[in-house]
Amino acid sequence: MRLSVQTASDNKAVKQQAAKEAGLHMQDVTGMRILRKSIDARRNPPMVEMQVRLFTGDSEEELYETTKFGFVGDNKPVIVVGAGPAGLFAALRLIEKGLKPIILERGVNVHDRKKDIASLSSRNELKGESNFCFGEGGAGAYSDGKLYTRGNKRKEVSKILALLCQHGASWDILYEAHPHLGSENLPKIVEQIRNTILASGGELHFSTKVVSLIKEEGKVTGVRTEGGQSYEGPVILATGHNARDVYEYLESEKIAIEAKALAIGVRLEHPQLLIDKIQYKNEEGRGEYLPAAEYVFSAHIDGRGVYSFNMCPGGFVIPSMHQGGTLVVNGMSSSTRNGKFANSAMVVELQPQDLPADQFGGNLGVMRFQQALEERLFKAGGGNFAAPAQRMADFVNHRLSKTLPDSSYGPGLVPADLHRLLPSFIADRLAKAFDLFGKKAHIFLTNQASVIAGATRTSSPVRILRDKETNMHVELEGLFPCGEGSGYAGGIIGSALDALACADSVSTYLG
Ligand SMILES: Cc1cc2nc3c(=O)[nH]c(=O)nc-3n(C[C@H](O)[C@H](O)[C@H](O)COP(=O)(O)OP(=O)(O)OC[C@H]3O[C@@H](n4cnc5c(N)ncnc54)[C@H](O)[C@@H]3O)c2cc1C
Repeated sequence: MRLSVQTASDNKAVKQQAAKEAGLHMQDVTGMRILRKSIDARRNPPMVEMQVRLFTGDSEEELYETTKFGFVGDNKPVIVVGAGPAGLFAALRLIEKGLKPIILERGVNVHDRKKDIASLSSRNELKGESNFCFGEGGAGAYSDGKLYTRGNKRKEVSKILALLCQHGASWDILYEAHPHLGSENLPKIVEQIRNTILASGGELHFSTKVVSLIKEEGKVTGVRTEGGQSYEGPVILATGHNARDVYEYLESEKIAIEAKALAIGVRLEHPQLLIDKIQYKNEEGRGEYLPAAEYVFSAHIDGRGVYSFNMCPGGFVIPSMHQGGTLVVNGMSSSTRNGKFANSAMVVELQPQDLPADQFGGNLGVMRFQQALEERLFKAGGGNFAAPAQRMADFVNHRLSKTLPDSSYGPGLVPADLHRLLPSFIADRLAKAFDLFGKKAHIFLTNQASVIAGATRTSSPVRILRDKETNMHVELEGLFPCGEGSGYAGGIIGSALDALACADSVSTYLG
């Protein structure tokens, strides 16, 4: 059905319209399930496209398939390093396979972590092991919780969405075209997943940093922690791409890894009203019934992709580094997305060969480049995690901004010449891309928007080499690099998908 935004916001009205179109009397319709919902904003006014299933009589199918988790407390153990999306979904799958997950997480539980994140945002106090990157729930725990993936594994994606619903996510995520969870809901879902793992006899140890692998004759048989304990079993290494010390360790042990391409750039922040005006083609903005508008831009500039990434409508720009003396910005938003600002990363594709080999060559070259840039930006912000920024049109026209627009970024913005701070192969392409995007959507290029540096952590700078068939490390039996940190996956859903595959591979490995 194509419905007005007002009708689509009222389930009773939707049901009435669906009954009419299906030739049914309202009194015969006993239930309705929404199968698909998306906004068509190409015309004015925007319309909502919906697909629903009506039920008559007393039969109604289940909304989603629930998974039953048996008791595995006495079964074979598998060590899972990291409790991000990859670690948690790997643990759930291991339980399904009759294996006992032992999760080791360097950070604290998601509840205590919230307090550490609050003191980072309000008092600029950064805790090395508890921040936006580290702790239960991983890097995605305080995000927008967008649940899209470019992959086409529909069945597995449905399984992950169903598992999220089973653990408290709103079932809107099953039919929304662009589902998202919101930063206030993610921690509750993570807690419920933890409860399932513990009730099934799995283990989860917080403040337990893994510092080395136990190896016997080319085979990984367990891990050692900073506190001196050891845990035995095959290892799913799901430490994410922020754990630079893990990559340093692998390199020092000559465990096969390689530098990987990623994308680096800035966070762009506009007034949400301006984005609503562009996308909904309405001077008044989005009105009562439409959600905060999103955008997607991409271009090919001088041989490299430049694109928007991880857009957070109605969201906040946040300080998301884990190391003192560095600065990284990212974005999050609540489920209602009702903040005053719209922010998105705007990034330029970076290949390892784009960097000077003498300075940033080798397996860790891209990671060292990321870190050097983050240190430079921290200094330029004057310490205390203030971020260097420039008005958007000024940035494109190489003009300094004396003042900056209001921003959602807690630690504050400092006017800076971003062409001097960012490498020219990034800054020049961004400026050309903004100019182009401004031609596509004429009020997008504006001095009401801030260009905030820098978005350096879009994906892993390293790939931990693994076998395509077995998902096992190419040289070390018993080691399964998994999730975003492996360099083979990205995003919440992408990392969870990878986790299901890795847990299946461990199950096969253990026979
Ligand atoms: C602010 C922000 C917003 C984001 N928004 C979105 C979004 O809307 N949608 C989306 O799809 N993606 C988003 N992402 C990206 C997404 O969070 C990641 O892709 C995803 O979390 C990767 O999952 P992972 O489990 O592989 O790694 P991570 O989530 O990074 O988890 C790794 C875990 O391992 C732990 N760890 C690391 N080293 C060790 C060690 N030595 N010992 C023990 N434990 C260790 C860490 O503490 C961490 O908990 C966002 C990221 C951030 C930071």
